[in-house]
Amino acid sequence: MLKVLFSSTPERWESYREVLPAKLAAAGVEAEVSLTHAAEEVDYIVLAPGGPIADFAPFTKARAVMCLWAGVENVVANETLTQPLTRMVDTGLRDGMVEWVAGHVLRHHLGIDAHIANPDQCWDPVAPPLARDRPVTILGIGELGAACGQALARLGFPVTGWSRSPKDIPGLTCHHGFEGLRAALAGARIVVLLVPLTPETENLMNAATLALPAPGAVLLNPGRGALIDDDALLEALDTGQIGHATLDTFRIEPLPADHPFWSDPKVTVTPHIASETRPDTASEVIAENIRRAEAGEPLLYLVDRARGY
Ligand code: NAP
Repeated sequence: MLKVLFSSTPERWESYREVLPAKLAAAGVEAEVSLTHAAEEVDYIVLAPGGPIADFAPFTKARAVMCLWAGVENVVANETLTQPLTRMVDTGLRDGMVEWVAGHVLRHHLGIDAHIANPDQCWDPVAPPLARDRPVTILGIGELGAACGQALARLGFPVTGWSRSPKDIPGLTCHHGFEGLRAALAGARIVVLLVPLTPETENLMNAATLALPAPGAVLLNPGRGALIDDDALLEALDTGQIGHATLDTFRIEPLPADHPFWSDPKVTVTPHIASETRPDTASEVIAENIRRAEAGEPLLYLVDRARGY
């Protein structure tokens, strides 16, 4: 009987304690999943942010560490973690992100705010432009960014994507590498950040890159807070170069009460809810990976420790 440690908070365990054992059983894996196995007995670690493990050294028998989150920036550089590390790719996570991004793109595209709060009863019958006239750029076209880009393309938006390696994604115009960043951002009217946070992508949106989209462009950041130089963004909002920023992720979370993002009328703060790993579908991924590990098959969604994602 394998021992699987669920390293997370007791609250999160509640939403996995039935479904994860059931998915393991359905995958043909005999395992006992618990919050509290003795370290030296653990075969696999399921890891969620907020979990108690900082030092993986005592887990001498553990054969893989499986993160419940897509972003692994808090664990990838941990030198005590010597086992293979996987990240989460989950249909629930993907669909949630597509819905958040599409919703916030359409909010800005249609100018919905002007009609939700209209105390002066302004009657200005100017229809918004069509999606085809509002170019959207997505920085990061992996599992989440590509799905968001294709959903927006289906709505009619011209979508440009940017990645590290060359990509050919139906419906998207693709650029890659830092030499492709300028072309990806030039003229964009909505920019979505979905690159992982790595040493290469920290402060990706800075004074120089915030100047590249069309004046008044909207920035959506469901990626990670440190992808943006906060001061440069506040400056770009002040000058109007960026018309609005809808931010879901921040350098410090919860966003501190005195952070200027809270009071800036051109910033919308959402509390890191763009998308969430869903226990039902994520448990299938964990179960499949443990089955694979036991069968000697390659793991799905392995993190490349050198690249950082
Ligand atoms: P992914 O599949 O690994 O995709 C990452 C994309 O970013 C890939 O296209 C990758 O290029 C590109 N990229 C990475 N480093 C780059 C660089 N230096 N220059 C250019 N492009 C680079 O990741 P994912 O599953 O889509 O998740 C993306 C991020 O979303 C996560 O890391 C996480 O931070 C964030 N997230 C947020 C929430 C939320 O609720 N706010 C929820 C889930 C995830 P290649 O394709 O060439 O590798």
